[in-house]
Parts: sequence; C-alpha cells; structure tokens
Amino acid sequence: TTVTEPESVAAPFAASGVGRRVPIVSIEGLRKSFGSVEVLSGIDLDVHPGEHVVLLGPSGSGKSTVLRSINLLERPSAGSLVVDGREHATPRSSGLFAGAPRGTALQLRRTVGMVFQQFNLFGHLSALDNIVLPLRSVRRMSRRDAEERAAVELRRVGLIARAGHYPNQLSGGQQQRVAIARALALDPQVMLFDEPTSALDPELVGEVLRTMRLVAETGMTMIVVTHEIGFAREVGDLNVFLEHGKVVETGGREFYDECRSQRARDFLQAVR
Ligand code: ADP
Ligand code: MG
Repeated sequence: TTVTEPESVAAPFAASGVGRRVPIVSIEGLRKSFGSVEVLSGIDLDVHPGEHVVLLGPSGSGKSTVLRSINLLERPSAGSLVVDGREHATPRSSGLFAGAPRGTALQLRRTVGMVFQQFNLFGHLSALDNIVLPLRSVRRMSRRDAEERAAVELRRVGLIARAGHYPNQLSGGQQQRVAIARALALDPQVMLFDEPTSALDPELVGEVLRTMRLVAETGMTMIVVTHEIGFAREVGDLNVFLEHGKVVETGGREFYDECRSQRARDFLQAVR
C-alpha cells in the first residue's frame, strides 16, 4: 500500500497490514492523573485521515483532557500517543506502531491544530496579525507570505473585511471564526475543537457551526467536543461517549438513534 503524504513517516508501519488504513492519531491505554486523582483511566482511540470524531460525555468526564493530551498541553501519565506515525508518549512494544520514532513538540504543533472554547486570540493583535504570528513562528514564513496566507484564510471564513479589527471589535462568533482560520492557516492534518460554541450567545452559534461544517467538507480530520447534538449527528462519523475518564460506548452514524448504554442514552436525553 502507499501513503499519500510524502512527509509521513507512517509508511514503514503500514507495510505490515496490506490495505489497512493507518490512523493519523492512535491512542492506546492513555492515562492521566492530576496529583492522586486519575482523570483518564485507559483511553483507546484510533482516528483515521478524513474522519470526523465527536467526543461526548458529562462535564468532568475527561473530554478536554483527551484533546489536551493529543496536543500535549497535558503530558500523559501513561499510554501511547502516536500522531502521524510518531510517538509522543510511551513507546509501544507491539502492533502497528511498535517502535515508532519519537516526535517533537514542534512536529506535533505543525500536525495538530486546536480551537478552544474561549477563542484565545491575542487581544493586542488584529484579526490578520493573529493569524500571521503563528505562521511566522511555527511555519517560519516571511511576513509577506504570512500576510498573504492569513488573508486567504480570513476570506475562507468570511471575515476578510474585518482583517484590521481587534478581537474586542469582533463578536464572539467572529472571534471564534478567526481562531478557526488561525488554526487552519498552519495546514494541520488534524483539527481539535473543544466546545467551540459553548461560550457564545445562542444567536452566534450557527455561524461557527457553519464554518466547522465547511472545514469538515474539505475532508479535514476533526475531533470535536460538543454538546450541539444536531451538528454531532450530522458530522460525526465516529462518536465516542466518555464517563469518568473511560470510553463507555462508541458508535457510527447510528449512535444518536440507537446507543446501547443507558448512560449514553440518559446523556443524549439531557442535552437534546
Ligand atoms: P470535561 O472536558 O469532560 O468536562 P476535563 O477533561 O476538563 O473534563 O476534566 C476531567 C477531570 O479532570 C475533572 O474532574 C477536572 O476537575 C479534572 N482536571 C482537569 N484539569 C485539571 C488540572 N489541571 N488539575 C487538576 N484537575 C484537573
Ligand atoms: Mg471540557
């Protein structure tokens, strides 16, 4: 089999399984403790290129910690985290990713983009410069190239007319769309969204979900934590229900109509 991205180091590991799709993110036995409290108790999750994964679960179940671990904003306490064929936690001794080369934080930052609930834009920078800055630091682009690319991304999210505006001159929905444009500008292979609409006034949720739908339609690999069940039902190829730091149930498109566990059913009932 062949792997399309020429830069991917996943290729040697794919050789073992003919016709097998290679996950872009592969989590095995992921554990995370804060002090003596274990908040992730052995998470397994494979995300394949182009797949749209929705993480669901009650508050405190560990959804953010899973996303933050994938981005190494949290250091896993144990378990393996392979992103684009590179190991970022504990090396595996067997299976597809046994002996995968170790990845660096910079490689991870170039591979994985993240959008937060609280936008996290730089308040002292214009919308354009919020996108230019990481293009210069992470992608090492010239100012001119970075400005050109930033403009392309702002146009894509419908905000080119706001390029010179500062975050406090933008609505929450607009700020979040700039944050999405900023993450996309870095050409990530995976986009993580942590409750991207939870901080928004209800009338601004739709524009952000629309932008996320557009991103999904480009074939971007996405892992999304959301309570927007309509969106999740539409976009989620793989739906993962977490509770107490464990995966309780996973399902495909049918998940929202016929989940097996009472816990997931109760949860869906409550957020609907
Ligand atoms: P969710 O996103 O599903 O609401 P989180 O991943 O944010 O859940 O949190 C899971 C658990 O870990 C919660 O009990 C939370 O209080 C705890 N937790 C998260 N971050 C920290 C931290 N930095 N220090 C201590 N406890 C934390
Ligand atoms: Mg959270």
